[in-house]
Amino acid sequence: MTDDLAERKMQFMFALRSKGVTDVHVLTAMEKIDRGLFVKGLFADRAYEDTPLPIPCGQTISQPSVVGLMTQALKVSPRDKVLEVGTGSGYQAAILSQLARRVYTVERHRRLVAGAKEIFEILDLANVTAFAADGSFGLPDQAPFDRIIVTAAAEDAPGPLLAQLKVGGIMVVPVGQSDAVQSMIRVVRTETGFDYEEIRPVRFVPLVEGMARDN
Ligand code: SAH
Repeated sequence: MTDDLAERKMQFMFALRSKGVTDVHVLTAMEKIDRGLFVKGLFADRAYEDTPLPIPCGQTISQPSVVGLMTQALKVSPRDKVLEVGTGSGYQAAILSQLARRVYTVERHRRLVAGAKEIFEILDLANVTAFAADGSFGLPDQAPFDRIIVTAAAEDAPGPLLAQLKVGGIMVVPVGQSDAVQSMIRVVRTETGFDYEEIRPVRFVPLVEGMARDN
């Protein structure tokens, strides 16, 4: 590793901590999974900045500190089966693979699924499976889940996803009526219903129903 790269990676970890990512397991996973693999082309040299960046299909890889804070809010334990909706680059799923027993991730753009699968293979992440599917309906075949993370913004926590959460399970999802005003919420399924808690304001690309047609 050149000194410059080492320095940028140190800054990357520093930015995570200074934005409130304090969970040591999350930090360790984010130190291990190299974001540089998930950002290609023009923006590759900005992979270690704490900023969202463009990926193919007009989507974005989320801001690292937001990935860290969402992952932290999800409270993943090593026995958990996790569903991610919105694979995108595959970065968030790769982080989750370090913390959970099993990770399923779904994405509506086939091209993104293919790109993410390639990286999972390079990294030898045997506990992650990516599917091309409309994640607004979850993944009924593998349900129920201990944890669900949605990395695209919905108006509300989607009903089919709530239904696929185990009792005691946690879902983290950005919700909002517009692109500009969204907030990340944590939903806990109890014996009798759901508890909602607002965590922080965020800004995500929208959750869109149906498979994408552009590939
Ligand atoms: N978690 C990603 C970033 C996701 S950006 C990462 O780590 O890189 C949000 C992604 O959600 C986009 O790729 C978008 O195509 C996808 N998406 C939006 N609506 C969806 C849906 N209904 N089902 C599956 N994926 C969806």
